[in-house]
Amino acid sequence: MALDRFGRSINYLRISLTDKCNLRCVYCMPENMVFRPKETLLQDDELLRLVRVFTELGFNKFRLTGGEPTIRQNVVEIVAGIASTPGVNSLSMTTNGILLGKLAQPLADAGLQRVNISIDTLDPDKFHKITRWGHLDEVWAGIEASERAGLTPIKLNAVVVRGFNEGDVTELAKLTVDRDWQFRFIEMMPFGDVAAFAQNAVVTDAEIRARIAEEYMPLELLDDGHLDGEARMYRFPGAKGEVGFISTITQPFCASCNRARLTADGVLRLCLLRDKEVDLLTPMRAGADNDEIKQIILDGVWQKPWGHGLADDVIPLTRVMSQIGG
Ligand code: SAM
Repeated sequence: MALDRFGRSINYLRISLTDKCNLRCVYCMPENMVFRPKETLLQDDELLRLVRVFTELGFNKFRLTGGEPTIRQNVVEIVAGIASTPGVNSLSMTTNGILLGKLAQPLADAGLQRVNISIDTLDPDKFHKITRWGHLDEVWAGIEASERAGLTPIKLNAVVVRGFNEGDVTELAKLTVDRDWQFRFIEMMPFGDVAAFAQNAVVTDAEIRARIAEEYMPLELLDDGHLDGEARMYRFPGAKGEVGFISTITQPFCASCNRARLTADGVLRLCLLRDKEVDLLTPMRAGADNDEIKQIILDGVWQKPWGHGLADDVIPLTRVMSQIGG
């Protein structure tokens, strides 16, 4: 079991399959983003070896992300490899959904269990403006294909950005009235080159809930406010689905954080919002055996920061979200 010095048991690994993306969301990366050369990224065999090492340390929950995980070459084979690794109990993916129209079924057949799909608005023009390159109909086709493939319960994510989509939150939340979906609003976080933009345009969960109450009806808190993963859950009275809030800025959930992130270039990141990292790729390529890699991981986990430092103006500067894996 991988424990940190605060007694948290870390068993959840979010793996970035690539730093590249087929969108350029305004809050995630600059439009002229420069990507890392392929040879500096974890190759398929290196990635699967690390997954096995992590499972032997007690990690049992894995999420694939990016960049955009569905554009990674061999993504179906990688999913099959991870799904068949002993000790992997939960395997899900966070994706923009654009390629799920054709990939949802093969991914489900390969062992993927669930997807979280990002959709910041239901307005095609605004969607294009936020993502710079995206077409909403492709995402919608991806959501439907995921539901048909059984990648359920369907979870949808929106980052709320002032001046872009704060007026769309009620329509988005109302998707859960007739569908057993979970819609989750994410407070925008500041990273690297897009930090100033994020800090100026953040919309808090309290503001989102107040707007939804005014424009439709108040949401009812579920489970006495206990977190479901990182989200605090609500429901419209009588609705089939649920609405969640991931409020990293105004209500941080660091105390219950059980996760670590593996970047596409093979670095272990113990806090999304702190720059401290542990390189796994370099020792692996230098010939470290699995026991040595395990010790590097355990030492890194032990030093996992207690929480983020946004309240003290400590902002992650070395990477934007797409280079970490959200
Ligand atoms: N491309 C995939 C997607 O769109 O879901 C996976 C990677 S993306 C980095 C993962 C999640 O991070 C998405 O839900 C995205 O909206 C969110 N995200 C990106 N930048 C963010 C930021 N600055 N603050 C909060 N969430 C962010």
